[in-house]
Amino acid sequence: MSPSAPSLHEKLNQLRQRFIEQLPSRLQNATAQWQQSRLSATEESRLAPELHRFFHSLKGTGRSLGFERIAMLADQGEEALNAPSAPSHLEGLIQQTFQQLSEEIQRLQSQHGQQQALSSQNCVEFADTPQPRSKRQRLIYLCDDEPDQVSQLLHHLRCFGHEVVHFENTESFFNAVISRRPDAIIMDVQFPQGNTAGTETLASLNKLTGARLPSIVLSAHGDFYSRLSAVRAGCSGYFTKPVKPLDLMLAIDELTTPLDEEPLRVLVIDDDTDAAAYHALILEEAGMTVHQVNHPEEALNALERFNPDLLLIDMYMPVCSGEELATIIRQQTAHIGLPIIYLSSETDSQKQLSAMTAGVEAFITKPVTPHELVSAVRLRAERLHLLRSLMTQDSMTGLYNHSTTTDLIGKTLAQAHRDGSQHAMAMLDIDHFKMVNDTHGHLAGDQVIITLARLLKTRLRISDIIGRYGGEEFVVLLKGTTDERAAELIDALRHDFEQVDFHAGDGHFRCTFSAGISSFPTQPSTESLRLSADKALYLAKHQGRNQVVISQDYRLEQPVPEKRVPEKYDLERQDADKHGANKQ
Ligand code: GH3
Ligand code: MG
Ligand code: MG
Repeated sequence: MSPSAPSLHEKLNQLRQRFIEQLPSRLQNATAQWQQSRLSATEESRLAPELHRFFHSLKGTGRSLGFERIAMLADQGEEALNAPSAPSHLEGLIQQTFQQLSEEIQRLQSQHGQQQALSSQNCVEFADTPQPRSKRQRLIYLCDDEPDQVSQLLHHLRCFGHEVVHFENTESFFNAVISRRPDAIIMDVQFPQGNTAGTETLASLNKLTGARLPSIVLSAHGDFYSRLSAVRAGCSGYFTKPVKPLDLMLAIDELTTPLDEEPLRVLVIDDDTDAAAYHALILEEAGMTVHQVNHPEEALNALERFNPDLLLIDMYMPVCSGEELATIIRQQTAHIGLPIIYLSSETDSQKQLSAMTAGVEAFITKPVTPHELVSAVRLRAERLHLLRSLMTQDSMTGLYNHSTTTDLIGKTLAQAHRDGSQHAMAMLDIDHFKMVNDTHGHLAGDQVIITLARLLKTRLRISDIIGRYGGEEFVVLLKGTTDERAAELIDALRHDFEQVDFHAGDGHFRCTFSAGISSFPTQPSTESLRLSADKALYLAKHQGRNQVVISQDYRLEQPVPEKRVPEKYDLERQDADKHGANKQ
């Protein structure tokens, strides 16, 4: 998170501030409705649901945001509306409630230094520390006193865009971890002061911080007891020297990247914008992506566009109830498996039970603690999320598979047609890959594919769409980027990729890729973008490979053919054979 981004506490206070600011007009509106409803029986039945909703949502949101007295008065109002009391008694109770609410609002508003007072009231505890999701690049500490090994490791780790800090001795390393904790540690075992100085330093750091720092040990010994002492020091990985930098890089990647990188997606549907914003904030802080909808009639559209892993629906809304909305959604086969959770201030268990008949997964009563909400959502959303990722991802690289890539690009372009944004597409293809397989074996080939995938993932933005299109072919949609900027970015990747050492048997080799770039809106559809990038890629291959070429195509005049260009690079075979594999 950047230092200027508001903290959770600040965001929460902004929500509370806004809630208070809007209260007078909400109260005024409700009071007017109440007076109107006293005029005739027709008006009373017309306005009763509105008044109910006013008190109900005030109760829930008030409690969630820590305004206990507001919540209590709202509860009193709701009870009064529900109670079968004499009209005059009801009249008095409601009037009194409005009066008390108004006084409480005035009290809150006139509080001296409101901002400070707010921040000290009812601090909400957030149990889940959010994952750093804005970047896949990591801060890595390398503590090693052997210069040869260090320069090679530094080179590879930096190729993948990681920030690497090197320490030559355990003392400076120790102090650095205390002041700024890294995402991962690579630690040599032997130092001048002892043969196990490295693992001892790690053990005392783990003890001091109370956490297990993700660490990998480099040692000259591969015997059982050396390994055991590393395990006891809390190390997650163990490599014997000489280390293959790429293997180490992949181990670091595995250690620091959560298995499933895609955040859970939650659609929050609540007519009360404060409540929706509050629940969204809690879920976002736990690393989820949240979209808020304040009108039930927008729900279907949002479902289509946002494609959530879970729905969080408020029970009481205008136009239709949460129950009716859940039924509408369930009646569509596309959403049958979508988990739904109701969120409401309803405490009547009979009403809760009846609401569950629409086939929802859970009923959560407001106010909900952040920890409770996050666990409830996570528990129910993860199953569908996992199932989806199996269907949408390529199992070897974890990138999107062909059909998902096309699908996602299509959706992005549909949006771009509406908002006029600019995007660039890059098609990448590994050079002479057949020869890599033939010369070094299929497993070495797989390692090249995995490495390029990791490189794309660590270096491009999370919002970019990265897909494995076929065997050794990748497609990337760089969002909000011009073709020139995209070419610069991909060329920097190309430059770093060509310097990665791959190992096979006793030998090692290097690999390159070529890329073609096209751009939207010059190319207005997924298919024309792809064809245009493919043509540029063809040119890059033709001009000698290991280069990035920007398409010079203008808008395609002809209707785009359905099928791909057949057997591309066929003309290049002779060329490839002449040059031989790019083996070192
Ligand atoms: P060019 O520079 O023109 O792209 O030549 P190339 O040899 O890379 O192109 P070609 O399309 O002839 O060869 C691609 C090879 O990639 C053929 C196929 O066996 C191999 N391949 C496809 N998928 C995989 C995979 O998952 N793992 C491995 N190891 N090889 C794969
Ligand atoms: Mg190739
Ligand atoms: Mg190919």
